[in-house]
Amino acid sequence: MPFTLSGDDTCQTTTPSRLHDPYWVAISPNAAELIQLPLGSDGLPVDPLWLDLLAGNTLKTSDIEFPNPIATVYSGHQFGVWAGQLGDGRAILLGDLHGQELQLKGAGITRFSRMGDGRAVLRSSIREFLCSEAMHALGIPTSRALSVVGSKEKVIRESVETAAVCARLAPSFIRIGHFEHYASLENTVRLKELADLLITHFYPECSQHDQPYLSLFKAISKRNAKLVAQWQSVGFCHGVLNSDNISALGLTIDYGPFGFLDQFQIDHICNHSDSGGRYAYHKQPQIMHWNMACLASAMLPLIEINQTTENAHEILRSALDEFPVTYAKEWQGLFRRKLGLEIEIDGDIELIERLLQAMHDSQIDFTNFFRSLGNVKKGMQVADIDTRNDFIDREGIDPWFGDYLTRLEQETADDVARKMVMDSINPKYILRNYLAQVAIEKAQRDDFSEVATLLKLLSNPYDEQPEFEAYSKPPPQDMRHIAVSCSS
Ligand code: AMP
Ligand code: MG
Repeated sequence: MPFTLSGDDTCQTTTPSRLHDPYWVAISPNAAELIQLPLGSDGLPVDPLWLDLLAGNTLKTSDIEFPNPIATVYSGHQFGVWAGQLGDGRAILLGDLHGQELQLKGAGITRFSRMGDGRAVLRSSIREFLCSEAMHALGIPTSRALSVVGSKEKVIRESVETAAVCARLAPSFIRIGHFEHYASLENTVRLKELADLLITHFYPECSQHDQPYLSLFKAISKRNAKLVAQWQSVGFCHGVLNSDNISALGLTIDYGPFGFLDQFQIDHICNHSDSGGRYAYHKQPQIMHWNMACLASAMLPLIEINQTTENAHEILRSALDEFPVTYAKEWQGLFRRKLGLEIEIDGDIELIERLLQAMHDSQIDFTNFFRSLGNVKKGMQVADIDTRNDFIDREGIDPWFGDYLTRLEQETADDVARKMVMDSINPKYILRNYLAQVAIEKAQRDDFSEVATLLKLLSNPYDEQPEFEAYSKPPPQDMRHIAVSCSS
């Protein structure tokens, strides 16, 4: 269902710009399957016109045509400040395929490009491609990535780089920023159309409610509360949680300077441009809540349709208060599972929080620690738990492991069953920055093999893959602090 509201001010027909001499950098077989795109034994689309299509050089393949590509307008808050009109400055929506919108990011200038060149660099396109597919495989709602197409066209950022196009898929790319745009123009007709469109296609249950728009607000807020809890559970930092980067479907979208935690640092800032740490790891839940407040104020005119202004405010305020409750419940459920605690017992949350504090104090590798926790067995001695040796403050962690072992005695599942559950929530492989960086540097030398390798191993992040064991290791010392910024 391509995003179309009536009227021509919303969705500008925009033809992608020509990308000279495009070539394949990567394609995701799982994403191709989602849109029933046949791939040959070389892993590339059987129909060669797909290369031109995904480069933005044609709007037709042998059997599909996208006659009306569009760029949409939205507005938003960036780093907490109202930024006014933004819009798809470099992403062009080709149309719909099997329930997925196909969007080309980096496909050239649109009416909303402002000072930008409409392009994306190879580096950021590979990062978005790999992370989209990795997040999906982790079970976290996200836009998908079908391909990266490269070229030798030069793009100027801090240095001269080359242009690439990442083809993204999502049932819809509607953002909180779309609501904010119409609210800022006091255009209640468009706001209503937008809300109705979402209800019809993605939240049909809201139409049964006596206040469908309130119900829509709650549903969007709930999905995003659950989403951010999932991010926290795998140590994912988005990097730029501006309201224009928040999906109305509760998907992770707009991968930029994101990062997965290596060593656990609760206030880790993944985005080099975020000097104030607004989007640090521990702030993500409250920032998502803040973004839902932006949505609430944008949706206020819809609630006011059949309420007094005062009532509408009150209703939305109490709906917004549901966010932290949903988030906490989700977070607790996820972290209980990470620790293998199926039965709920008082004191569990304190146990989880004590662990996180100890991990922070000793800067423990987030992913590997949780993965290894599945190896702890009932009746073990604390001294026999290998991972305790990774903690600087062993006298601090030993009592924790003691309490954890005591707590495990209350679980009915045996060690094998518990480990199975824990291994299905504690990934072995994540897209660590240093892994992405190695793949990018090779790709910049026209060797795309490492991108393919990462895609393959990150497609099964919970499985042991002995041939890829090295990819589960923390970054080497010299690759611990790779700077990732908004430049893309
Ligand atoms: P982002 O931080 O990537 O979410 O981008 C914020 C806004 O800037 C969005 O409206 C983008 O479309 C726009 N933008 C980012 N980079 C470019 C670019 N190179 N050319 C045009 N617009 C851009
Ligand atoms: Mg964005």
